Amino acid sequence: KMRKDVNAVDSPYDLEGKGEENDNIGYFTKKKLHVWCRLSNWVWRSGTIQSTSGEESVVTLSNGNVVKVSTSELLPANPGVLEGMDDLIQLSYLNEPSLLHNLKHRYSQDMIYSKAGPVLIAVNPFKDVQIYGKDFVTSYRQKATDSPHVFAIAENAYKEMMNDGVNQSIIISGESGAGKTETAKFAMQYLAALGGGNGGKECEILQTHCLLEAFGNAKTSWNDNSSRFGKLIEIHFTTLGKISGAKIQTCKHSRVVQLTAGERSYHIFYQLCAGAPPTLRERLNLKAANEYNYLVQSESLVINGVDDAQKFQKLKEALDIVQICEEEQEQAFAMLAAVLWLGNISFQVIGKENHVEASADEALTSAARLMGCAPDELMQAISTHRIQAGRDSICKKMTLQQAIDARDALAKFIYASLFDWLVEQINKSLEGGKKHFGRSISIIDICGFESFKKNSFEQLCVNYANERLQQHFIRHLFKLEQEEYELDGIDWTKVDFEDNQECLDLFEKKPLGLLSLLDEESNLPNSTDFTLANKLRQHLNSNSYFRGDRGRAFGVRHFAGEVLYDTNCFLDKNRDALNPEVVQLLSSCNGQLPQLFAKNMLNQSLEPAISLDAPKQTVGAKFKGQVFKLMHQLENTRPHFICCIKPNTKQLPGMFEEDIVLQQLRCYGILEVIRVSRSGYPTRMTHQAFAERYGFLLLETNVSQDPLSISVALLKQFNVLPQMYQIGYTKLFLRTGQISALEDRRKQVL
Ligand code: ADP
Ligand code: MG
Repeated sequence: KMRKDVNAVDSPYDLEGKGEENDNIGYFTKKKLHVWCRLSNWVWRSGTIQSTSGEESVVTLSNGNVVKVSTSELLPANPGVLEGMDDLIQLSYLNEPSLLHNLKHRYSQDMIYSKAGPVLIAVNPFKDVQIYGKDFVTSYRQKATDSPHVFAIAENAYKEMMNDGVNQSIIISGESGAGKTETAKFAMQYLAALGGGNGGKECEILQTHCLLEAFGNAKTSWNDNSSRFGKLIEIHFTTLGKISGAKIQTCKHSRVVQLTAGERSYHIFYQLCAGAPPTLRERLNLKAANEYNYLVQSESLVINGVDDAQKFQKLKEALDIVQICEEEQEQAFAMLAAVLWLGNISFQVIGKENHVEASADEALTSAARLMGCAPDELMQAISTHRIQAGRDSICKKMTLQQAIDARDALAKFIYASLFDWLVEQINKSLEGGKKHFGRSISIIDICGFESFKKNSFEQLCVNYANERLQQHFIRHLFKLEQEEYELDGIDWTKVDFEDNQECLDLFEKKPLGLLSLLDEESNLPNSTDFTLANKLRQHLNSNSYFRGDRGRAFGVRHFAGEVLYDTNCFLDKNRDALNPEVVQLLSSCNGQLPQLFAKNMLNQSLEPAISLDAPKQTVGAKFKGQVFKLMHQLENTRPHFICCIKPNTKQLPGMFEEDIVLQQLRCYGILEVIRVSRSGYPTRMTHQAFAERYGFLLLETNVSQDPLSISVALLKQFNVLPQMYQIGYTKLFLRTGQISALEDRRKQVL
């Protein structure tokens, strides 16, 4: 027996085919209809059934091979006419191999977009596909086409914003390298085309990509242009639908100092080194990228097919467009050069106690000059610290490791401050001095889920942010949706889904959550990687999303898979301690930017009024705050979801690795999304609204005038079939497509 036809919207089916009664296997055998035959957890082959006896079937695979398999490993395949459907909810048989086959078939024809009910699936083509030109914008604008596309999502968001006056959001999720940032850019390109022509704000908005990517993206081994920060871009529109401005919010974790093989630091450093004109090079004492320690830690100095010098020209133009003046640009470049020179500062051991002093060489003098201080002062700040001894403080020389850490912390601080400064300048320019009152569409693109052989604090932050975003996805597509049905009392068989709330609790619980415990340990004087790992094990082992491992390691069961973290350097990275001498140095520097950076730092640690030496907010706490702020902003918008899928791990076009795709579909719960959506009622209106909107179309005059009666009479008049709607306590629920007949009629009459 094979599973029943699931064409009827609410008939049950089992995605895995496990334990289900497959009762029409005879029919499939007789008609030689195609079935999927599971050969392993990830591999299916299509074939036809020759015979079945008991629990076993003999199947001829499409390649001619004949195999004997357990009948429970067979799933019905869809008929050829359903090959490559736009929307996966249209498939007669909904199962994993059918979804995969449909996506693969489309992908092979460069149809990278598909719908899974309300969610747009975008499979990364890893090559240019000609579907983003002006003609495509026009056809989506004029609704000449409705095939799935990021433009269609943007169009919908724009339309709903204009029609309903509700702020919208486009939420893009996916693993690192899946195509989120590119997708976000295409969505913005579309919105800029729609809302343009209002003083050129749209050009400015598009130029921000180039700036943010230069300062915030880096080459990693899995994505040549990987964003190392998350961003939410809120585009503001006037009531007439024209773009009036925009605002960018970011959340990030830093990376200047440590690199691993195949990685580069932020693009901007290589662009500056390759593209700065001679006079600027001279003023900054700039060398080639391979002369800087921070840039040569890995072998990849260049990216295939990328001309850093040319990128620098583009960057200059973008800086001009967002109105960062020549003088400010030069100051920013000086800060970048200072960071690079800081990395070249070396230390010499002096005396018996392993104390060090920075070498008075070109690196020290250049970094000091670029920051605007004396070399001695810089040397002092990164090789000594003040220790409180009773009422006095004494100056103590650092050990080599302490000095290196202090130097790197200073470099990271300057870079992070520079990034914040840049975002602030861009925001000033985008908002154009006006306060925003209109409507908005927010586009969110955060760093994707990461799981490597070695995972550290950065991965923990990124993956935590992804859990939060996933919860938003789940809440809207599963929880709120199904709650609404239940609250309104309609017949509904609940669809189960994987809720990640418990995993979020593991991170966020106070005082015994991962982040709190990490902060607590970071504030203890004698804590180490091992004491941290022990503490986590001690308090979290009972949580099923946590797994204590040997030594320094621990595992977290994320929605996208288990990740093993190594606590090595966790505490330092979380503290991100800055020597107070360094802040003092910066505030006395002869330059606007260093002074500004120091001031911002002091302002931060002044709440609530504390001194320089008081513990500042940890990186983890700050990151969590930023994530909360982003999520809070999304809460007040109507979401549109895009799920980006990476079809292979080699960044190659035309390669569709089924196991890799399937794993992502499972993580995001795409099958369940389709299931909810297929048996769901996407159109819902209160009886009142429905009666008001369509009541005048009613031909029958003998209807009592309450909204419910009018609604029921309308449904009857328009022959809406009983299985196509449900009447709730307060609302009418309609299946996909049912409202269009009424809308068409309404338009004709009006
Ligand atoms: P993510 O932000 O998810 O980490 P990106 O958006 O940076 O991933 O995409 C990684 C790479 O994939 C891009 O640099 C680009 O080469 C390619 N890519 C992604 N989406 C598209 C697309 N729609 N068309 C062409 N190439 C794409
Ligand atoms: Mg990205």
